[in-house]
Amino acid sequence: MTVDLVIRNARILDGTGAPTFEGDVEVDDGRIRSVGAAGAAAREEIDAKGLHLSPGFIDVHTHDDGAFLRYPDMHFKLAQGVTTCVCGNCGFSAVPNIPGEDPGPASGGILAGAQGDFADLEGYFDAVLAKRPAINAIMLVGHNTVRAQVMGMDNHASTSAERAAMRAKVALAMEQGACGFSTGLIYRPGRWSDTDEVVELAREVAPHQGLYTTHMRNEGDKLIEGVEETLAIGRAAGVHAHISHHKAAGKANWGKVKESLDLVDRAKAAGQKVTLDVYPYTAGSGRMVEYFRLDNIDRNFAEVIRIANCPAFREFEGRMLIDIARARGEDIADTVRLILTAPKGDRTICIHFIIDEADIEANLRYPGMMVGSDGIPTLNGKPHPRLFGTFPRVLSEYVRKRGVLTLEDAVARMTSVSAETFGLKDRGRIEPGFHADLVLFDPGTVTDTATYDEPKQTPTGVPMVVVNGKIAWRDGAHTNAGSGQMLRYRREAYRGPSTGA
Ligand SMILES: [Zn+2]
Repeated sequence: MTVDLVIRNARILDGTGAPTFEGDVEVDDGRIRSVGAAGAAAREEIDAKGLHLSPGFIDVHTHDDGAFLRYPDMHFKLAQGVTTCVCGNCGFSAVPNIPGEDPGPASGGILAGAQGDFADLEGYFDAVLAKRPAINAIMLVGHNTVRAQVMGMDNHASTSAERAAMRAKVALAMEQGACGFSTGLIYRPGRWSDTDEVVELAREVAPHQGLYTTHMRNEGDKLIEGVEETLAIGRAAGVHAHISHHKAAGKANWGKVKESLDLVDRAKAAGQKVTLDVYPYTAGSGRMVEYFRLDNIDRNFAEVIRIANCPAFREFEGRMLIDIARARGEDIADTVRLILTAPKGDRTICIHFIIDEADIEANLRYPGMMVGSDGIPTLNGKPHPRLFGTFPRVLSEYVRKRGVLTLEDAVARMTSVSAETFGLKDRGRIEPGFHADLVLFDPGTVTDTATYDEPKQTPTGVPMVVVNGKIAWRDGAHTNAGSGQMLRYRREAYRGPSTGA
């Protein structure tokens, strides 16, 4: 027989953490047919001598819901070797959606315009598939999105009727294939909720054995309380709890990740299911308006901020607030107010240098810690380089240069561990029968080239990426194969309205 594709003489990292071995991989009809010595003839042969072949990377923390509609070529992820994104994080998701209504007030630019005629997850899947996405997605349903739709953006506690309405939206998304429920309890309107509300909504994922993922209520002075609340929610709802972008924010809190990881370890030892992810950068990024009270500007925080995207003042993009204030001869608090009170000021995305390098290493050393970019796909201005460089950066900086992780372990945390955690059926390993999501790279040269000054850079050392058996990236160029699929939690990918159920 003749198969679709054979990759010969590769150094194979099968994604499980097992030692690298030399071999061929046969691909046919979107799946891996054999691993070892290829016997079949192939319509396309790739000689991978000198290169490593691993499962495609899984970005477990993305805000790419809108990017799949606006930038279906997903070049900023594909070029890194990413073949699947977990969307809908931090409580912001494209679904549920009210057609014709601007979801902006709730998501504030984080989702890069996740708008359309769809209402539910299947509608979103149809809308994305019509654009032939380059890579795969699986979705979380977000608390902030659901709460904003049911209750608006105001500060008030939910009634039992409102909770019932929110629960129904979470339940529908889970039935249609979402992998879990996410919160962003630091953001509006999620921050107005109490723990009980979150528990009640998280219970809707329990029948599906889905995840509760969280951007915790606090990642700085009250990090430990944030972890305690997360663990309590997981226990009370009877669900797997996943801590997003684990960090200790703010210099006064540096080093605290050891304490919070100890807390996670104790919960795990007591039988609780808990997982985490991290991004490999010392700066965070988010919607600037969420970090300030206009009547009491935090100057220390303002001083570590750099403007990424600013619709009102494009000339501020790529500059530190402190430099902007100095150049304007004004108090930094006034610069913050100027930006946030301008038209569309609430859509400003900032980058804040709040994380200790030693904490990133401690996180990456933690067994099973997954990698998630947390990239915000707003391509105007100077976005955080994590959108373009996260996965090559782990391989170059933390594996090759510093030896924080072995290559096999790093790849496992970007592939099989992520696939098992987020319910990506038959993905994340190079194994016969698994979907052929693959990346060919050179561990000796792979490098993230994206910087804070020049973020929109293609990484080097990633010559080929295969998505569902089709070559999607070859020799530094996009092939526009459009072979991405919309994945459903622990089920086969969505195939359209007729077979959607
Ligand atoms: Zn977040």
